[in-house]
Amino acid sequence: MHAQPLNLAQIMLTNSKLQCQLASSLAVRACAQPRRHRSMIRTPCVGYRFVYGPRSPNVQAGGRSPFRGLCRWGWLLVIPLLAGCAGRAPRRLTVGAEDYRPLSRVARAYGLTLTVEHHQHARLTGTPWLFELQADSRRARVNGVVVWLHQPVIQHRRHLAMAVVDVETVLDPLLRPARHLTAVERPRVLIDPGHGGSDPGARGATGITEKELVLRLGRKVANRLAAVGIEVALTRDADDTLSLAERVELTATADLLVSLHLNAAANPAAQGIETYLLPAAGQPGTADPGGNDQPAATAGNAFDGANQVLGYLLQQALLHATGGEDRGLRRARFFLLRTAPCPAVLVEAGFLSHAAEEQRWLDPIYREQVANGIVTGIRAYLALTEKGGR
Ligand SMILES: [Zn+2]
Repeated sequence: MHAQPLNLAQIMLTNSKLQCQLASSLAVRACAQPRRHRSMIRTPCVGYRFVYGPRSPNVQAGGRSPFRGLCRWGWLLVIPLLAGCAGRAPRRLTVGAEDYRPLSRVARAYGLTLTVEHHQHARLTGTPWLFELQADSRRARVNGVVVWLHQPVIQHRRHLAMAVVDVETVLDPLLRPARHLTAVERPRVLIDPGHGGSDPGARGATGITEKELVLRLGRKVANRLAAVGIEVALTRDADDTLSLAERVELTATADLLVSLHLNAAANPAAQGIETYLLPAAGQPGTADPGGNDQPAATAGNAFDGANQVLGYLLQQALLHATGGEDRGLRRARFFLLRTAPCPAVLVEAGFLSHAAEEQRWLDPIYREQVANGIVTGIRAYLALTEKGGR
């Protein structure tokens, strides 16, 4: 998690600011002519100041100004507008370079129900969806599956808000897949068993290597898909050394790419399943610090919405099939994900550095479960594309 503490003073309350400006301009105009000496009053809204001052001697000598009553009591006009500033959710908030949308607005736009506890935990619900969000956190849950957002959910006054980029690339593809998926007549699936040949990848304590296990897994997945009539190919079907550039060449005719890997970590307690997709343009990966110097769009960003749907369905199906620990749907700028000319995800299906997990991978029944999960996820995605995403 890379939630940064937010400086709420930076928050520009766009919609409310307009209201305050309107209220203020009324008061300023009313007082503009007869006043010489003015004091500044700070409103509760975004520090916007309006002018209200003492009586002018000229006015006292020259009789009552028709604006005098308005000047004295005009601030009363501001009160209901200021109440609106504090209570109604603005359409958008801007924090640094990031645009945010209040969750109440998101809920209304998608016909979801929003419930918030302690101004911290939010739930957006609507059959069959449950989105669980947490203030100051990028970690969300979608129907129980951990999904990492690009930006933390923020809290402003009484409102929780999520980044517009997350509304558009996380929520929208799941809620309205038809907008993000392209129907393909006879989709070609490319399964990429990682590493191979001179590159063994991760190695377990027993000596078993990632390249062996993902090749077995890839073959099993390909056979299952072919058995139900899906056109499928492998980037390697033997213990071949294959560069990333060679793998990318093979994606040229693919409609879908799933790259298979196993993990290793210095921490022997690390375990579980994670699925990676490309971050949106200008956004950090899950392990990256935030900031404004994130990479621009690459070829893979043409499929941001489809990547989200594919990654989510795969992670969900893998967890369901294996009962594995959920490390979440994550984002990273891996070479294959950046360059693929089709929707693409990379699955890290377990940790060979975790003793118990390595033992599970040595069991053919467990490997069968993993293959089942991947096949189920791919078929669920293809079924959505056949229906035009509906
Ligand atoms: Zn690997």
